[in-house]
Amino acid sequence: MSKVIVIGGGVAGMSAAHELVERGFQVEIFERNPSYVGGKARSVDAPGTNQLDPALFLPGEHGFRFFPGFYKHVTDTMKRIPVGPGKSAFDNLVSTENMMMTQAGAQPMVMPVNFPTSIEGVKEIFRSFQTVASELSDKEIEFFAGKIWQLMTSCKDRYTQEYDAISWWDFTESDRMSSAYQRLLSGGLTRSLVACKAQTGSTRTCGTILLQLLYLMMDPVAHDTDRVFNAPTNDAWLGPWLAHLQAHGVVYHRGVEVTALRTQGGKISGIQYQQDGRSASAGGADDWYVLATPIERAANLINEDMLKIDAGLKNIITLAPNVEWMNGIQFYLNRRLDLNRGHTMYTDSNWALTSVSQVQFWPDYDLSRRGNGTVVSILSVDISNWVAPGDFNNKAAIDCSKEEIREEVWKQLQAELNVGGVVQLTDDMLVGYYLDEDVRPSPTPVSNAVKAHMADADQAGFHQMINLEPLLVNQINTWAIRPEAVTGIANLFLASDYVRTHTDLATMEGANEAARRAVNGILAASHSDAPSCDIWELHTPLILRVLQEVDAFRFAKGEPWN
Ligand SMILES: Cc1cc2nc3c(=O)[nH]c(=O)nc-3n(C[C@H](O)[C@H](O)[C@H](O)COP(=O)(O)OP(=O)(O)OC[C@H]3O[C@@H](n4cnc5c(N)ncnc54)[C@H](O)[C@@H]3O)c2cc1C
Repeated sequence: MSKVIVIGGGVAGMSAAHELVERGFQVEIFERNPSYVGGKARSVDAPGTNQLDPALFLPGEHGFRFFPGFYKHVTDTMKRIPVGPGKSAFDNLVSTENMMMTQAGAQPMVMPVNFPTSIEGVKEIFRSFQTVASELSDKEIEFFAGKIWQLMTSCKDRYTQEYDAISWWDFTESDRMSSAYQRLLSGGLTRSLVACKAQTGSTRTCGTILLQLLYLMMDPVAHDTDRVFNAPTNDAWLGPWLAHLQAHGVVYHRGVEVTALRTQGGKISGIQYQQDGRSASAGGADDWYVLATPIERAANLINEDMLKIDAGLKNIITLAPNVEWMNGIQFYLNRRLDLNRGHTMYTDSNWALTSVSQVQFWPDYDLSRRGNGTVVSILSVDISNWVAPGDFNNKAAIDCSKEEIREEVWKQLQAELNVGGVVQLTDDMLVGYYLDEDVRPSPTPVSNAVKAHMADADQAGFHQMINLEPLLVNQINTWAIRPEAVTGIANLFLASDYVRTHTDLATMEGANEAARRAVNGILAASHSDAPSCDIWELHTPLILRVLQEVDAFRFAKGEPWN
């Protein structure tokens, strides 16, 4: 039986293992993290929160997860992960109902995320229009709508060649627009819905994903624009997934960091790894290898011998700096705080906060024996801008201590939740917090006084905090150098969120699609009779295809979109 060595046990690595083991391959996963599976998708036991029962912790996470309805790959895999009699992990997903955009000192805008099926839903839409209309000029609304229409009717080649070369910020001409336009439309929508930075993200990526979400919102049949799990991610998905993989023979090694790939005769001939402070090796030239680490770690594993066989792997090294920080902090509260039934975006917060109030989606999750027993709500917040000065402490998150981050985020939340005489978040509600442990004090910080004498470029490496797991952002002009899952090394395949996929966004969906492509590569190279993994294109409504064809003619003639 052919053996496959998978390096990295995140969503991509586990997805590859799942597809492979179903097709009769023997699979071993080598994962750096000693405690958790699933990579960045993991939830964790917040340390020290098992005061009442040593086995029961409050749940923390690297950052909250959402699974939009256009996901097909990762959700298809979930349908094959049993979580109880007749139930799969997919059944643990629940739809949210709305999205809230808060503002400092003003009423929030609450927008339904699904097609309305009740009079209340219709009213909610009109109320959200009212807030937007009072903030934005007619011209701005018209202009933005025109840009969306342009995206809806543009051909594929224009996306790949023209829109990949322009940032979402420039495409939406945000520089010349009002701050409300920047907060609510160009910057806001992408930050909350797409997790994509308007200033640096390509229009190809931001625009494509935004359209997928808009199509879902307008679809009277789909009610799954935005979904979350009905329990912490490990309980609802990753734990059962690991059990399922192991039951089918996958060997999952934890706490094993792969440090090198060896080559021989134009192929990968083995891996070297570190475990418990000792070095060891595994694999041979007859094995298959799936490199399922994130871009910045994959780049570290590309060596000169590999480049001699496939010079294209150099693109991984070129792309590696295109990562940014996005990490979660969870607040444990002693009073119920449901907010809206969905995600909340804090449009005035300099640190680009988004949140979800989780317990409202976790009907069967018992918090009473966790923490000190008083926690009834968990507000899970993602911090997406780590370099902008805080609204209150004027410091970048990257230069704050953990406690300073906690304090500043809390104040930014309060500034937008306690408005119009309604106070939703008070200091006495806070029982504790968990900041993602990937964000930790830097071993070489320097004081601001010293920094003042350093050139900007020199300052880059000297911050209070380091982040062990940043996230890829698809910046402009990078599609052309994004690698395919199949490499020029006959037994090496790539599976992670940076690989070229239809999804084209660093997400669990992109990671899963990449894994399927890697497995299909192994099936082809090994002349396997097993069926290939399904891969789906993103949805385009039929009616728009005609207009996209018209644009394809224009594009071929070198004409602009009209
Ligand atoms: C805060 C935050 C929120 C997010 N929210 C969403 C969301 O709502 N929806 C969504 O779809 N996506 C979301 N994402 C993105 C998504 O989490 C990632 O794109 C996806 O999980 C990537 O999976 P992966 O397997 O490719 O990489 P990873 O999750 O990074 O997994 C790679 C694994 O490889 C291991 N590894 C690394 N180097 C080595 C080595 N040398 N040897 C052995 N093992 C190694 C790592 O420990 C890790 O477990 C979010 C990301 C962040 C940061």
